[in-house]
Amino acid sequence: MKPFRYERADDVSAAVTALAEEPEAAFLAGGTNLVDLMRLEVTTPEVLIDVTRLTSDRIEELPDGGLRIGAAVPNSDLAADHRVRRRYPMLSQALLSGASGQLRNFATTGGNLLQRTRCAYFQNVTTPCNKREPGSGCSALEGYQRDLAILGSSPACVATHPSDMAVALAALDAVVTVHGPGGERRIPVTELHRLPGDTPERDTVLERGELITGVELPPPAHLTASRYRKVRDRASFAFALVSVAAALDVADGTVRDVRIALGGVAHKPWRAATAETALRGAPATRGSFLDAAAAELAPARPLPGNAFKVPLARNTIVSVLLDLLEERR
Ligand SMILES: Cc1cc2nc3c(=O)[nH]c(=O)nc-3n(C[C@H](O)[C@H](O)[C@H](O)COP(=O)(O)OP(=O)(O)OC[C@H]3O[C@@H](n4cnc5c(N)ncnc54)[C@H](O)[C@@H]3O)c2cc1C
Ligand code: SF4
Repeated sequence: MKPFRYERADDVSAAVTALAEEPEAAFLAGGTNLVDLMRLEVTTPEVLIDVTRLTSDRIEELPDGGLRIGAAVPNSDLAADHRVRRRYPMLSQALLSGASGQLRNFATTGGNLLQRTRCAYFQNVTTPCNKREPGSGCSALEGYQRDLAILGSSPACVATHPSDMAVALAALDAVVTVHGPGGERRIPVTELHRLPGDTPERDTVLERGELITGVELPPPAHLTASRYRKVRDRASFAFALVSVAAALDVADGTVRDVRIALGGVAHKPWRAATAETALRGAPATRGSFLDAAAAELAPARPLPGNAFKVPLARNTIVSVLLDLLEERR
């Protein structure tokens, strides 16, 4: 690992200014992703600015019945919080499906959202990778493809976003609060991460120096029946091949409201807006669920090595919705 300097910022503005002015600096939270990438020399910051004591590590009630999660809240605390477990079960399940207990104790809400792709070529500095080194090429296109994207990818990059938590937050319409050189702003989680286009080196819409301060969850209203299902190669310690976060509200056999987001299929948590639109007002039946899932996946463009993800995603969406339907009976 290359030598680096460690600093602890005293306040949010000082941290944001320090990062914006220092080209070779990075924010450090739990370090479970950043330090790994530094060991591999995928990233080589000269200064690490520790932000764990700058942002809140508390989960607070919002006046509208939602919750505000501080950026420093550890993944394990968030998963165990009784309000999260009761009102947003899919979020707790998504967190518990990620990493290991020990890692979740260190991993933070802000860091989890900004973890980098697990594409094997991104993590291997001896191979070309447009995300690591723009213009060098994409080794994955002719390489190992099992984990790669089937939706929204580009010829420049077919990587997937790895966070489980972010998929649940996308389905829940959560909003990220950010403090940057230009002040504060709010970004829906669905708009935080980018599709690769021809600039895959940019994972998110965040500008240099912007610090995530927290995440706000809207009130769950009638959507407390929710679930996260992660399909992976091993029962633990494996990233999603496909995951589905869904919430369903049914009245008189008709879908009144539904939220669906997919993980492991795109460069960002994939909100399944096409399926949701097809389902609202439709009969709550296996047939409707199948048609909606098929419509969502119609634009999928898999590679030879990950074509299995299309039926896998379709079947997982249907099985999660059927389970939620059963739960409501
Ligand atoms: C073996 C292993 C298995 C794993 N399995 C899974 C899994 O199955 N599912 C899953 O979702 N994750 C998994 N993870 C990833 C893990 O969840 C992430 O490493 C962790 O959530 C990152 O959080 P952190 O606080 O350690 O972030 P850090 O590593 O400290 O930072 C990550 C990035 O976020 C930036 N950052 C951190 N905080 C802020 C902030 N407040 N504002 C702006 N930028 C910030 C950092 O600069 C860095 O770029 C796994 C990790 C390991 C090592
Ligand atoms: S898929 Fe993206 S991250 Fe992976 S090698 Fe290609 S450019 Fe790099």
